Amino acid sequence: MSGEDDSEIAGVGDIRMVRTFRVGAEGGLYPVNSSTAWTEGWNTATCARGRDHTPPDPGCRCGFYVYAHPSYALAQAPARQVMAVVAVHGALEAGTRGARAEKARIEAEFKADRKACDAMNGNAKDVCVEQAKGKEKVARAELDYKQDASERHRGKVAEAKADAQYAVAKEKCDDLQGEQKDVCVKDAKAAKARAEDDMKSARHSSN
Ligand SMILES: [Zn+2]
Repeated sequence: MSGEDDSEIAGVGDIRMVRTFRVGAEGGLYPVNSSTAWTEGWNTATCARGRDHTPPDPGCRCGFYVYAHPSYALAQAPARQVMAVVAVHGALEAGTRGARAEKARIEAEFKADRKACDAMNGNAKDVCVEQAKGKEKVARAELDYKQDASERHRGKVAEAKADAQYAVAKEKCDDLQGEQKDVCVKDAKAAKARAEDDMKSARHSSN
């Protein structure tokens, strides 16, 4: 098949969203309600109800579901095995937490590690969740930077990394008590302040 839509050129107007997939036995990535794996490059939605229209039709529920934030995607049980950042293209039906799209392409995958946290308990679980959240934020920031290698996006990557490190470090302190915990929190804050100073000086030196 060939045509205008087979272009591999990153479209200027493409929007980046997130969604989850289940992993098939052969390793393919499947939408939860579909037996059709996504392929490399642009995937085109078809109407699952077999209606004679091009998804996303406003009066139907067809189209690739994509979300504006990983937390929305993760709320869509049970397709949580793999989180991916996808670019969407063509017709879009906007919703409150995302959109239905005609065409979509996987740009980056990262395991939805939060699923693994479900098996844990207590503070280990909290630490696990913070690590997973941080990983998602860093991955998204890195994608923005890949798309537009601006100073602002570079700063966002550094910020996401520093925030994630701080959140995890602080969460780990909950394993401690009393003075040990206070010292632990103080150390985490000091590390964050150092990271912020580094970011500031990086910004200044790039002027
Ligand atoms: Zn339809």
